[in-house]
Amino acid sequence: MREEALGAAMRASIPMTKGFVEAEGIVAKVDLTDCSQCGLCWKNCPFGAIEDIDKNPHIIEALCKGCGLCAADCPKECIQIVHYGDDQIAAQIEAALEEKPEEKIIAFVCHWCALGAVDIAGVGRSEHPANARIIRVMCSARVAQKYVIDCFDRGAAGVLVAGCEFPTCHYITGNYKCSDRLVRLRKKMEKKGYDTGRLWEVWLSASMGPKWVATMKEMTEALGLVPARKS
Ligand code: SF4
Ligand code: SF4
Repeated sequence: MREEALGAAMRASIPMTKGFVEAEGIVAKVDLTDCSQCGLCWKNCPFGAIEDIDKNPHIIEALCKGCGLCAADCPKECIQIVHYGDDQIAAQIEAALEEKPEEKIIAFVCHWCALGAVDIAGVGRSEHPANARIIRVMCSARVAQKYVIDCFDRGAAGVLVAGCEFPTCHYITGNYKCSDRLVRLRKKMEKKGYDTGRLWEVWLSASMGPKWVATMKEMTEALGLVPARKS
């Protein structure tokens, strides 16, 4: 896609013009113990931040942007993201669904455009149901399939994945990869007897507060929830 190619070229040009690279604290870490050397991680990283060294992945931290795509898709769960590890996200899911999970929507919201839209909705004091519990991720690509299944297994009424509106993504292709993953996840859910109608997605630019509000209203109604009020 032309936009993705342009985005990649622009990002690649930044270190060239600056003459140095700023490493980010939120980076991937790999533990090779269970690695099957499948190569998914180094083939898919949008930033070329994973080297294949004798079929073993090696993270180049100076290039890693911490999107979480590699961690979410690693079939052997060998990769963690600093500050956004599996344990940290699982703890948030558990806490959010501790009480009355059947009344709640877990919303995985990307830190960039989607969270911007949520903020706009909040600043505008738009009236909308407060059934969602937001779990922030850097990119929608961080939302592993197991997080969604965990939410449903804990009784969540619904799960919403919110990322940047296409074709833009802070991580070049993160939203596309997330969208593809959700297609695969729905197929898997169908086979296992989960109700795929409880898994929603929305793609937002930072100015789309009204779209977030509309999604909250639609989802709450479609799931048959009593609209919660902000406390
Ligand atoms: S995706 Fe996981 S299992 Fe596959 S090579 Fe990378 S770290 Fe190893
Ligand atoms: S996919 Fe994302 S988190 Fe993983 S190494 Fe590449 S930039 Fe870092």
